[in-house]
Amino acid sequence: MALRTPSSPVRPAFSRWISQSNNITQQFMALGIDPDFISMAGGLPAAEFYPTAAIAEAAEKALARWGSGALEYGPIEGLSALRRHIAERISRESGRTFTIDNVLLTVGAMQGLDLIGKVLIDPGDRIVAQFPTYVGALDAWRPRRPVYEALDWSAETGTGVDSLRTAKFIYTVPNYSNPTGALVPTSARQALLEKALEAGTWLVEDDPYLPLQFDGDTGPSILSLHGRMEPDGAYDGPVVYLGTLSKSIVPGLRVGWTVASAPMIQALALAKQSSDIASSMLTQAIALELLEAGREEAHVPSIVRHYRERRDALCAAASAELGEWFEWDTPPGGMFVWMRTRHPAVDTDALYRFALEEKVAFVPGSVFDPATQLRSAMRVNFTRNAPSVLEEGVARLAKATKRYLTSNY
Ligand code: PMP
Repeated sequence: MALRTPSSPVRPAFSRWISQSNNITQQFMALGIDPDFISMAGGLPAAEFYPTAAIAEAAEKALARWGSGALEYGPIEGLSALRRHIAERISRESGRTFTIDNVLLTVGAMQGLDLIGKVLIDPGDRIVAQFPTYVGALDAWRPRRPVYEALDWSAETGTGVDSLRTAKFIYTVPNYSNPTGALVPTSARQALLEKALEAGTWLVEDDPYLPLQFDGDTGPSILSLHGRMEPDGAYDGPVVYLGTLSKSIVPGLRVGWTVASAPMIQALALAKQSSDIASSMLTQAIALELLEAGREEAHVPSIVRHYRERRDALCAAASAELGEWFEWDTPPGGMFVWMRTRHPAVDTDALYRFALEEKVAFVPGSVFDPATQLRSAMRVNFTRNAPSVLEEGVARLAKATKRYLTSNY
């Protein structure tokens, strides 16, 4: 019998989705592999500071504590003891009671975004999203074909209640946004929360960068602001909050959490079942050991010190070499500097190709625009590379920019 390869392995809608998303995350992950290449593209922590010994110890303890239980499929909502730990942490921060019924453990915060798309988005639904927008969220939701409106934070003149009334949900990264590194002030969070409550709209608060605070702190999360406004009873409000251990410990644990009202958690858990049956009990059990032993609190100050130094090194090198063409605000936390072009002729999609030839990479702004039109900015990561490597990366970027501007682009 002749064996035949299917002629069309991928349905057309999926192919369209792939070509629109341009496989960008995969491309950026691959760039890190060439040792001569300086990638300032990925949103990656510095591997040299990973707490490997603490993770090994936690793994041993987790296996001793849970035995084969750590190796089973486990409950779809995740390890109850870890859900409880997260619920207690959020209750302390917010002054409202959160129980394990308000917590779903996920494969990183990324799975939370995917599940939110599955549960909430019908084709044509409007999402009011902070602009520019995290590429992972755009990728997760693209197959569901939503339309986007840029969120304007200003209390009086910004996105209004009427607009929110007809939106499916609001999406925001208020702490050191990906890609801009910007921190949203408490007053703007409060104003948005009040509008969302009046409009009856879900509000997705994606918060992976919370631990990476360099200058001052973040102020309360939108979830905490709501907890303080209405402190009675278990949480039943519109905020769907996403957290993760990817930035504060390691991304490879793939442990994240979604905190929301119990009915929303139940819906997300049902959606999760058809995604992965259950996520890894083993890494959740390791995460629990790490958190109970206070390893996250112990680890974060040292990475923050290094990351602050790296941010300063990047900004100083950029001031010396890129100031003629770009401007930026020094981010008070997180992983990224958002560089905006001052030179009208600089298109960051085009510059990107010249940068690759100089063996350096950033992420062009278009990736963070649902309409892929944003060509006047780029995202530069400073956490992954040592200060001297960042300096060399900036020198290469300056060379690429000069070459680009003198070419017939
Ligand atoms: N949201 C934002 C804004 C992010 O920057 C990231 C990581 N790049 C994630 C979610 C996903 O993080 P993880 O799945 O590793 O928890």
